[in-house]
Amino acid sequence: MSTTSPLHLHGLIEARTILPAIDPQTCILCLSTKSSPGVNTICSACTTSLASDPALSFLHHTAQELYAFWIALLRRTLTREFEMSTCPKRGTSWSFKLGVPGAQKNLPMPASDTLELGQGEAMKLTAMEKDLLEEVLLQSMACAEAIQVLARLLQVHLLQDSQSPVQSIREILFEPAHPTCTNHWTFLVTLLDSRTYALNFSDRQLGWPRLLVSWPEYLSKNIKLDEAQSPIRLQLFDLGYWCTECWTEYCVRFHQVLEVDWDMVLEERAPEGWVAEEELGERERVKGERAGWARLEGRVEKLFEVWREGGWR
Ligand SMILES: [Zn+2]
Repeated sequence: MSTTSPLHLHGLIEARTILPAIDPQTCILCLSTKSSPGVNTICSACTTSLASDPALSFLHHTAQELYAFWIALLRRTLTREFEMSTCPKRGTSWSFKLGVPGAQKNLPMPASDTLELGQGEAMKLTAMEKDLLEEVLLQSMACAEAIQVLARLLQVHLLQDSQSPVQSIREILFEPAHPTCTNHWTFLVTLLDSRTYALNFSDRQLGWPRLLVSWPEYLSKNIKLDEAQSPIRLQLFDLGYWCTECWTEYCVRFHQVLEVDWDMVLEERAPEGWVAEEELGERERVKGERAGWARLEGRVEKLFEVWREGGWR
């Protein structure tokens, strides 16, 4: 790494803080230990209880499918440049900087598949643990992007679908109960029977394995509370709010790029008028990437259908 081009840190993921999210023995609905390991699978007790709960079952299965698509989309559009390092005290960690639009990157995996956990501890990753670790890295600092790009799909598959048991969905921004993250987005889903759930497409980066968590539990365990047990910060927005905000911002700041029909996320190369990170400044660059996701939002439904059919584009 050149000293004139400093690595812009967008959060730092430390292996020892995300271990619960890469454990294939953990049920991703109830956190209990499953009888056999699996990537994103649930325990037999949860399978039984879902069988007698059609509403939750619909939500769970739709969420699973959308999550798989989201991961595939992140993998397909990965342009961030990850840097992996190991320190004797804190173990393996990853940071990244934003790359060039369209320039596909790979995720770095530790040498010999061995994760250093610090203080002389290490673990050899199984194939399932590696898959889960990739999901963690793909989600890092991508909570806002998940909100942007998945809002449309949630609208179509959870609100407009006549079979869906969902009454409403909000986008929420809060301070999580986490040692380093101070800002996090997720969805809040209310069923027709009034039950509420946090629906989390980017929680793995915080070491939280669950895609779906009952809202009262999420509120008490995953949201930072003050002494009176009230959230320190919790903002609720209508579904689609954040995508619209990012698009508006894009129109103001990137009007010179706007004329090109280009989305910053799926295109193979940067358009004319694009200014690279070094000249543009980090803040602008982040907004550019967000704007790309906002632009993609209009096409994401079609992409989802193509992905479902087993292809991509
Ligand atoms: Zn379970």
